[in-house]
Amino acid sequence: MAGRLGRGLLVLATAVITAAATSAVWLVIFNLREPAGTEERTIVAPPPAPAPAPPPADESGDDLASKRLTLPVQGIGAADLVDTFAQARDGGARLHDAIDILAPRGTPVVAVEDGRILKLFESQAGGTTIYQADPTGRLHYYYAHLDAYAPGLAEGQAVRRGDLLGTVGSSGNADPAAPHLHFAIFRVEPGQKWYEGRAINPFGPLGGRARPDAARRPR
Ligand SMILES: [Zn+2]
Repeated sequence: MAGRLGRGLLVLATAVITAAATSAVWLVIFNLREPAGTEERTIVAPPPAPAPAPPPADESGDDLASKRLTLPVQGIGAADLVDTFAQARDGGARLHDAIDILAPRGTPVVAVEDGRILKLFESQAGGTTIYQADPTGRLHYYYAHLDAYAPGLAEGQAVRRGDLLGTVGSSGNADPAAPHLHFAIFRVEPGQKWYEGRAINPFGPLGGRARPDAARRPR
């Protein structure tokens, strides 16, 4: 009795499934034959995927995050760097917006990458300084407190990564007892001048890694 009933239900279920499958097949065939766009479609296309956002590091097009800059002071490695970018200066009136790389006076300072010398400038605070553009012109590298420029260095000159630019010193407002290179990176928008731009922390692009100590802090 139960067996017959079960078999009956099975037959019924099979018939229902077969009918459903058959109509599904016809539905598919009908839709395949239907000229596109003339009737309401029963198969709904998934919504178009949103365009992938570019990685934040490349939003400016200068690829700073993927660059590995050459250490600008000869004999100084990435492990020697101290991140002083966010330190206060002038009694909290401004931020450092750069890193200081300590080295003996006269130590060679070299270009962190290819580019062009934008400006050789004597400033009260920075002393003997160099502004260098990267190959895109969207990044400016700033070298300050130099003791001297490399012989023959001139504005407009093309430089290659590692080229001698000058020597470490304490010109400007640096402590004469603690010669160092003050190095900054500025991201500039089209039309901005050599002295404009937004400061980017050079610590990462120079290969620096965070350490618990962050003691030394000359200007
Ligand atoms: Zn500094």
